[in-house]
Amino acid sequence: MDDRDIKLQQRQTKRRRNELIIKCMISLFVLLGVILAVILVKDALIPQLSGKNKIKRQTLASDILASQRGEAPDGAAVSASAKDAEAELIAQADRLAAQYDYEKAISLLQASEQYTGSQTLQNAAAGYEASRSSCVEYALDQVTHVFFHTMIWDVSKAFDGDQNEAGYNQVMTTMSEFAGIMESMYAKGYVMVSLHDMCTVASDGTVSRGKILLPPGKKPFVLSQDDVSYYHYMDGDGFAQKLIVDEDGRVKNTYVEDDGSVSVGDYDLVPWIDTFVEEHPDFSYHGHKGVIALTGYEGVLGYRTDEVYRTKDASRVTEYQQRFFDAHPDFDEAAWQNEVDQAKAVAEAMRAGGWEFASHTWGHISPMAAGIDKVMQDTQRWLDNVASVVGDTDIIIFAFGADIGGWEPYTDDNPYFTYLKQQGFHIFCNVDSSQYWVQFGDTYLRQGRRNLDGYRMYYNPDMLSDLFDVDSVWDSARPTPVPEM
Ligand SMILES: [Zn+2]
Repeated sequence: MDDRDIKLQQRQTKRRRNELIIKCMISLFVLLGVILAVILVKDALIPQLSGKNKIKRQTLASDILASQRGEAPDGAAVSASAKDAEAELIAQADRLAAQYDYEKAISLLQASEQYTGSQTLQNAAAGYEASRSSCVEYALDQVTHVFFHTMIWDVSKAFDGDQNEAGYNQVMTTMSEFAGIMESMYAKGYVMVSLHDMCTVASDGTVSRGKILLPPGKKPFVLSQDDVSYYHYMDGDGFAQKLIVDEDGRVKNTYVEDDGSVSVGDYDLVPWIDTFVEEHPDFSYHGHKGVIALTGYEGVLGYRTDEVYRTKDASRVTEYQQRFFDAHPDFDEAAWQNEVDQAKAVAEAMRAGGWEFASHTWGHISPMAAGIDKVMQDTQRWLDNVASVVGDTDIIIFAFGADIGGWEPYTDDNPYFTYLKQQGFHIFCNVDSSQYWVQFGDTYLRQGRRNLDGYRMYYNPDMLSDLFDVDSVWDSARPTPVPEM
């Protein structure tokens, strides 16, 4: 090949390259044009569902289309989208007002750009204001507090005559009983409030009375659930397996069926209440739900999160845990970390949905029987293994319905009280069968809780008549007599 050939080849290569660049640029322009057209048409045709930015973009897009057609901007389309935005704003405010948060409903409307020009929004705000001013302050020392354990989903498995049956019959409630109790309480005007609606804790640890404002006839109550661990001993006895976050971000239970398949649904208190409040928002005050009281020794919410599942420390592994390790020989540190991560995600979703957490002591201990040294070690374990997963709390719900003193107010001479205060606990709950038992100290709130379980329903139905009629919710699958304690 001589010099001329090489030069010719170079020129041809250069020309081909230039042609290629021009072709690429043309394709790019065509592509950009198509993208722009798609964006404009899509924004102009699809009705806007939410958000100020979207509305602005739609107006802009339709203006451009209109000017391209040589027409004036389409005023009618703009006002239709404003109407949509208004309707959505009112739907949001209605939900807040249904949960008695009239102030937030009003400020939501007032904060919108359309408010001053919209009679509809102003009328809605005036309606909320009228509802707000008709509310009455509820007497805090008459707020009742009811609690449950994990719900029995399959009665045939819980009441099958094995060694666990008596305990389940005494302290647990079946899913159908629980649904009946909640429906009755809802019909009677009960509304779920938070312990933090009852009091305000200042940064210096002083506790003052909160304010609960409800329409006349509505009655606040606190709901709690103890031991939401799905303990090993309950495996195969008809209880949910764990709490999960499903694909839609909802908190649900899993349940292991007889054939080993796993179902997802409302098999325990938390998802049942979530679904009920979705349908009946006025059952929840300001979106607040119950308090979940957790131990830590077998993990939380159905996840094996305690450090013992990581260390497998022989001096601490229990018989149940050994059986778990035998059944899951591949449960290693990564598996443990996965449990922690999942439990954290569930706890976060629950908090976002209005739930709160409380300590139920790490080892399900009775504090005064255990002694102060044991309480200190136990509390540290709770903070290290449970608070680190579900987040901090200032509520402690004692196990066994125990307490750290008699009915007289706690004092600073009480070493349990001063220690737990130092650890950040300001709200204390025991078990008390009376309709309500509320004590405010300068630095704490204490409340008694009523057990709505087989024992109470069987032996003292008359003590529950303010809440529900035992005969109409009693699960006929429950063996009688309920064993005495
Ligand atoms: Zn308990």
